[in-house]
Amino acid sequence: MDLRVNLELIKGFLDPEEGRALYEQARSVAHVGPCLEIGSYCGKSTVYLGAACRETGNTLFAIDHHRGSEEHQVGEAYHDAALYDEARKQVDTFGVFRQTMALAELETTVVPIVAPSTVVGRHWQTPLGLVFIDGGHSASAAHSDYETWAPHVQIGGLLLIHDVFPDPADGGRPPFEIFERALAEGPFVQVAMVKTLAILQRIT
Ligand code: MG
Repeated sequence: MDLRVNLELIKGFLDPEEGRALYEQARSVAHVGPCLEIGSYCGKSTVYLGAACRETGNTLFAIDHHRGSEEHQVGEAYHDAALYDEARKQVDTFGVFRQTMALAELETTVVPIVAPSTVVGRHWQTPLGLVFIDGGHSASAAHSDYETWAPHVQIGGLLLIHDVFPDPADGGRPPFEIFERALAEGPFVQVAMVKTLAILQRIT
């Protein structure tokens, strides 16, 4: 796994074991189609997925409005003052994200898309080999990400969902809810669960 950057220096909320799983899963779908992630933040998950795409000649679309999720806003649990633009009174993670992509030598593999994911989805027509949902954790954000992007996963392709907590005591419900929806509505089956990363495959 050639990441070309020290991941400990990149801000984010991804466990190294989950990161390795992202890398391995992305490596396995190059023949199915390009990869797409929702929720790049400072680019930590993007480095794992992107490294796999670079090695396989694939492309990674990285969607994020770069204004931070609910929990990143001022006064919230995961607010980071270093990622806050005081003059404009808004979170801005795009500068740091671009820096991460340059350090990891991913600028010819990763296509950053700076917009809300549902806006990107309105006219999306490219079939996908892998979709990684790690955007907003509100019910509306998680469910609309699922509804927008799951249908683009091709047969044999993968749907990955981060922050899936089967026990409500461990974390918020929406990522777990969309994980259950994908299993109930099909045509997805569970391949593995690596910590809080659910890995599903489209079978028909
Ligand atoms: Mg996450």
